[in-house]
Amino acid sequence: MKILIVEDEEALAKGLKFNFEQEGYEVETAGDGHRALDLFDAAEPPFDLILMDLMLPGMSGYETTREIRDRDEQVSILVLSARTLSEDRAMAFDAGTDQYLSKPFALPELLSRVRNLTNRRQARATSPVETQASPALPARFEFGDEIVADFDQFELTVSGTTHTLTTMEMQLLRYFIEQESRVLSRDQIMENVWEDTSAFSTRSIDNFVMRLRRLIEPEPGTPRHILSVRGTGYRFVANPEPGVDDSESENPEHQD
Ligand code: CA
Repeated sequence: MKILIVEDEEALAKGLKFNFEQEGYEVETAGDGHRALDLFDAAEPPFDLILMDLMLPGMSGYETTREIRDRDEQVSILVLSARTLSEDRAMAFDAGTDQYLSKPFALPELLSRVRNLTNRRQARATSPVETQASPALPARFEFGDEIVADFDQFELTVSGTTHTLTTMEMQLLRYFIEQESRVLSRDQIMENVWEDTSAFSTRSIDNFVMRLRRLIEPEPGTPRHILSVRGTGYRFVANPEPGVDDSESENPEHQD
């Protein structure tokens, strides 16, 4: 999978390139729209996804998006922008972007969105025609005893009963799943899960955890999936071994 990052802030472009390369993507960067179009036209094989900044020197991100969309209807385009007005979003969608993420963003959310967009693209490209009615669901994660998290639909199905999660609950659950079995401090969770942390205290995390526990833990008082790590935070276990309660024997190595 190949990604083109169009971003004039060099440090951000480099950071993103590094992170996506860690995830196994092939990455090229462009500091302006013209360079982006040159790279796009020359790419062989073509890019699978474009990360597009809106405020660029010279040709704007809107215009660059339109140009790319004119050339390729299939390529996924994700706009990353500090512009948060709904008109800006509307203009970006009019220009042909698939998704819009406001800066500053949480890296896990960006990685996960890109993963979803590229997985879908791969599923479209590889699935035989007759199975296209039931596309692959890369945004689903199954764990524990019949628990299914559906990140696209914001749904959590537990033993056949479906609950709708709020964005916050879903983001937290997704972070736990992505960081499976790691000890996560409350500060770490705050920084990585929520774009705007000003509205939250570490106590809010405990409240969100309590709500998730009520949904996924058969006995919320003695959790087996979202374990408390004394003095630090939490640790998520997707598939706990039956009869083993390791929440008390935790010895966190990465305490902040
Ligand atoms: Ca910019």
